[in-house]
Amino acid sequence: MSNLIRKSVQAMSGYVPGEQPKGEGIVKLNTNENPYLPSPDVQDILSMIDIAVLARYPDPVCIELRKAIAEVHGCAVENVFVGNGSDEVLALCIRAFVERDGSVGYFHPSYSLYPVLADIEAVEKRPVALDVNFGWQMPTDYSASLFFLTNPNAPTSLQYSKVNIEGFIKGFGGVVLIDEAYADFAKENCMDLAMANDNVLVARTLSKSYSLAGIRLGYCVGNAELIGAMYKIKDSYNIDYLTQEVARVAILDQDTMHANVQAIVETRKLVAEKLAESGFEVARSETNFLWVKPKGITAKKLFDELRKRNIIVRYFGNDERTRHHLRITIGTAPEMFRFLDAVEEILEGS
Ligand SMILES: *Cc1c(COP(=O)(O)O)cnc(C)c1O
Repeated sequence: MSNLIRKSVQAMSGYVPGEQPKGEGIVKLNTNENPYLPSPDVQDILSMIDIAVLARYPDPVCIELRKAIAEVHGCAVENVFVGNGSDEVLALCIRAFVERDGSVGYFHPSYSLYPVLADIEAVEKRPVALDVNFGWQMPTDYSASLFFLTNPNAPTSLQYSKVNIEGFIKGFGGVVLIDEAYADFAKENCMDLAMANDNVLVARTLSKSYSLAGIRLGYCVGNAELIGAMYKIKDSYNIDYLTQEVARVAILDQDTMHANVQAIVETRKLVAEKLAESGFEVARSETNFLWVKPKGITAKKLFDELRKRNIIVRYFGNDERTRHHLRITIGTAPEMFRFLDAVEEILEGS
């Protein structure tokens, strides 16, 4: 059988998404989803949709949705690409910008999808190791065809300074995709760098700050020529009609997104303080999750004990750089109090 499958595909491991457990009473803090409702305009648009339109193909280039995104970011429609989640945006960047003998760079540790996407296209991977505190310094003479610069980074929750990013971009010969999946939870963002530099794209997603992981919508903004190349190679109808409509109204309701983000940022501060009081190392988060190194118990043991109590967080145990930490998504305040009570109980018993 296996001789029917491309060698590079046989050799690679697939991406492992966080689990989506079903059941009553589970506190799900493992995949950085938003615990609050999306914009009420989403409910309204779904109630108004005429099912007759579903018999027709959707707009292949999503003009109305891209107009809404362009309006929010102050750019032109030609500067916006929309994808089936930002995961599709990332995959298309490799297909559009990396030759067969080219290479893809990214931080280690960072979003674990990047190496998988490079493996799918069978191109060289050039990870850049972060220092012991997960800080970033580029090796001298580094080059790659495409660099996925995750800022704030995941799973470490840390934001790198815009000045450093600007410096890196100026001297880099390839395309830089700044993955800003968490930028709405952060103090600053690099959207203006996408408009000012021909080799920079900034990617965003509706999965986190907009509470819409279920519709699969991500986008990137940047140079019209790069965006045009991505439009050449995408699937003909990559965004379905319902998603285009839901995403459009959600993007235009910036107030609901900002209110939800504000609530999460406040809860984040409280949980970070409580965990620090227990002696945990808590990274300075600019995201909707915390990256913590427990005290008095191993990360693995704490993960298992939380799980027994129906509280699911994320543990990346198969990598030396990440196996001493846990990644904890910020849920609602009541969910986080349940989490903190459980941590206290586990620490007392250990
Ligand atoms: C969640 C996440 C994504 C994926 O977003 P989707 O739009 O849901 O595909 C991309 N990059 C990073 C760093 C993420 O954490």
